[in-house]
Amino acid sequence: MDLGLEGKRALVAAASRGLGRAVAEELAREGCKLLICSRGAEALERTREEISELSGEKVSAVAVDLSKEADVERLLRTSEEELGGVDILVTNVGGPPAGRFEDHSAETWRMAISQNLESVLNLTRGVLPGMRKQAWGRILNITSISVKQPVDQLILSNSLRAAVTGFARTLANEVAAQGITVNNLLPGYTLTQRVQELAESAASSRDCSPEEVFAGWEEQIPMGRLGRPEEFAALAAFLASDRASYITGASIPVDGGWIRALY
Ligand code: NAD
Repeated sequence: MDLGLEGKRALVAAASRGLGRAVAEELAREGCKLLICSRGAEALERTREEISELSGEKVSAVAVDLSKEADVERLLRTSEEELGGVDILVTNVGGPPAGRFEDHSAETWRMAISQNLESVLNLTRGVLPGMRKQAWGRILNITSISVKQPVDQLILSNSLRAAVTGFARTLANEVAAQGITVNNLLPGYTLTQRVQELAESAASSRDCSPEEVFAGWEEQIPMGRLGRPEEFAALAAFLASDRASYITGASIPVDGGWIRALY
């Protein structure tokens, strides 16, 4: 299938590793010009070089903390300088800390709101005028399966992903007539470095091995295995393309069947 992404300009947030990186890689393979970001400059630069080498496409990178409004503004200015605008925005950022309601202070909530909700609003605010002007745009938000079925011990994530979903579903209607689609991608358990680290920390607190933690997750997944980042990225490339021109306001899981609901 020709996705028609050749030459499109994509800004992929939080892409030095994991799901963001997989999406950036897939879009570059499809011929997009890329701007990626994350906090740590060194890992980001390595990723930038690797994606540029494997795709032969121009890839730019800027180290920013997405929870800081001034950093997001700097990222948006760089997108103008390096790409001349953004056709495809992929919002993404690290997950907030795990825990139950009484584990988190008001300050932790504020930090999570800046990182996981306000970063999405600030990025979207920056790219929408250009998308409206050219009457074409794609906004993809990486959220989580927790928006369909909240995950225990993740009250911050469950709450803020739900807020992003409400925002995106409403915005989708506001911009649909201008050729702009807004969709959410819901990763299930996907084997990234973060998930590997989560398995290790769960193993040490439960006094078992990381393999046993993985086995517990796999039991909940009808496919019996975790997802691969490239399986997630394939959906992103499709939704970013013209082939997905009539899909908007959707929240689509890539979860091996984990969510049991009818939707
Ligand atoms: P990851 O930790 O492997 O990658 C996160 C990326 O975000 C890294 O590039 C990191 O440098 C960057 N980052 C983190 N905080 C940042 C900040 N404040 N500013 C700029 N960059 C920042 O994580 P992942 O597994 O790829 O997950 C990506 C997102 O998807 C997370 O929000 C996670 O909670 C969510 N998610 C992941 C899974 C999964 O199974 N992998 C499942 C559900 C939801």
